[in-house]
Amino acid sequence: MSDAKDLADDIWEKVKDHPCYSEEAHQYFARMHVAVAPACNIQCNYCNRKYDCANESRPGVVSERLTPEQALRKVIAVANEVSQLSVLGIAGPGDACYDWEKTKETFEQVAKAIPDVKFCLSTNGLALADCIDDIAKMNIDHVTLTINMVDPEIGAKIYPWIFFENKRWTGREASRILHERQMLALELLKERGILTKVNSVMIPNINDTHLLEVNRVVKEKGAFLHNIMPLISDPAHGTHFGLTGQREPSHQELMALQNQLADGTKLMRHCRQCRADAIGLLGEDRGQAFSMDKIPETL
Ligand code: SF4
Ligand code: SF4
Repeated sequence: MSDAKDLADDIWEKVKDHPCYSEEAHQYFARMHVAVAPACNIQCNYCNRKYDCANESRPGVVSERLTPEQALRKVIAVANEVSQLSVLGIAGPGDACYDWEKTKETFEQVAKAIPDVKFCLSTNGLALADCIDDIAKMNIDHVTLTINMVDPEIGAKIYPWIFFENKRWTGREASRILHERQMLALELLKERGILTKVNSVMIPNINDTHLLEVNRVVKEKGAFLHNIMPLISDPAHGTHFGLTGQREPSHQELMALQNQLADGTKLMRHCRQCRADAIGLLGEDRGQAFSMDKIPETL
């Protein structure tokens, strides 16, 4: 964020040790992601499903898929070695709420073993309303929602389909449902007192100017941070299905948008889009040192 101290005292108290929200905490506290949620219920046009969810993680990366039991072993191994571990996040490789049973089991097992680790999760929001009671009970006090539009006309250019209530929806109807469910997710999270950050992917000529309206709406609905991430469209990541040839925003375009939004919901500018299995302080990634083949069967 531009200046963490701009946050209200009660919010700052909750986020000050959280490397995702506090630039200062980035230097002193470590975060860890475990990739336990393989499936996704929507298709973003910029996502190549061979890789991790591009909404919260660095695109083009394949994380080590884990079962909840493997995730628990890995978290214990990391906590034994990395004394500053403060946050465990689940951000994919698909959608953490769609694969809810795996996400829930992982958090429950880790909470029993290491009660002082904080939890956060990242989701596209479509299925969040179905698990809000569990989220509130588990004391997950930070959630990231990816919201790229508040207008289904624009959404139809970003999302070719969604899977909802046992049915595949396409076109404008798909985006209308996704939009309504994302707004419901924001309302429910606010109602339960759960801090919500919104991520938006800036896609030139598709939603770049529209993100001003997204910012206004998510602020009104209670998001405490809005993180604008540039589309990363590297050919090495494969085809961007509906966005073939889509260019990335330039650094100047990103900065210009962030500056325009600076008076709205607090902006987060320090995010480096970690891998979905990142481990360590910001700027270091010790994920490879903790791959499952290096973790003993019993700890
Ligand atoms: Fe969270 Fe981004 Fe920081 Fe990674 S770089 S810990 S995803 S804020
Ligand atoms: Fe890919 Fe994430 Fe979008 Fe699902 S929500 S399609 S995993 S970027």
